[in-house]
Amino acid sequence: MIVNRQAFEELEHKTLSPTASFADRSLGRKHREAEDEYRTVFQRDRDRIIHSKAFRRLKHKTQVFLSPEGDHYRTRLTHTLEVSQIARSIARALRLNEDLTEAITLAHDLGHTPFGHCGERALDQVHPGGFDHSEQSVRVVEFLERRPSKPFKGLNLSLEVLDGIANHSGDRQAATLEGQICKFADRIAYINHDIDDAIRAGILTNEQIDPGLIELLGDTSSKRLKTMIQDVIVSSSQSECITMSPLIGQAMLDLRAFLFDHLYYNPVAKGEEIRAERLVQHLYAFFREAPDEMSPEFFRDYQTHGIESVKDYIAGMTDRYAINRFKELMIPRFWQ
Ligand code: MG
Repeated sequence: MIVNRQAFEELEHKTLSPTASFADRSLGRKHREAEDEYRTVFQRDRDRIIHSKAFRRLKHKTQVFLSPEGDHYRTRLTHTLEVSQIARSIARALRLNEDLTEAITLAHDLGHTPFGHCGERALDQVHPGGFDHSEQSVRVVEFLERRPSKPFKGLNLSLEVLDGIANHSGDRQAATLEGQICKFADRIAYINHDIDDAIRAGILTNEQIDPGLIELLGDTSSKRLKTMIQDVIVSSSQSECITMSPLIGQAMLDLRAFLFDHLYYNPVAKGEEIRAERLVQHLYAFFREAPDEMSPEFFRDYQTHGIESVKDYIAGMTDRYAINRFKELMIPRFWQ
């Protein structure tokens, strides 16, 4: 027997919580498109995201460690996959829409700059109006990704997926519970994998973590992940929104604050960051003066969108592409 879209939609009504987002009640897309025969609207969104060029570039974008030598450090792509796995576990346990959760999480960082947060900071300082990776992720799926067969720009994703991407960070709250899961899953993922990577790099040791937090959350990455994920599931099952208990939620924030002090702002760990920031800002200044040196599609956009296109071009770069363009444009060939 073949399971088609209508069967999936019916299954959702039989198995999901009444508070879930149902595919057949989606607010739809900006541009009308015929429904797919076999996939629901959210399954289709997920597939469009995976097949996008921006998704493939995540492989060569920094998570926290710039150009890590080892093969086991996270990249923006593996971070995204971990967020997605955590979010899907939470969605499934709460009987929420796993497909919608997956689509939002796979797209949440598509707008991230090269060189992790220092790239974001560098663009934020120089671009008029600043830079925010959540907004840029929406711009990637709404405008920058192109499908030659379509008369419109972007991936034309459903409004629920766009809302979840736009509201995954900061104090914003997504309209759907599936979107709210993304914010928690993102934090749970990066706090735990950044500790793991920092220990791997010899920058942190487990012993530096507050014993009170270890006792509450667990003494290994895997135990801490489990504690946090289970806490989101249990607390959210007794609430109208996605949440954590005050005790574990606070412990997670304390662990995050510890990471800010010992890793994110640690001058030893982040010694290369100032170079990466300068590189991004040099590229920005260069293309602002010479937009025709950008790749042709961005120079075309520049005619209409001006400086926004310079920001788009740089934000879309992988670490290595940014470095190669810098070398090509700024360093005489003889010396390279
Ligand atoms: Mg993220």
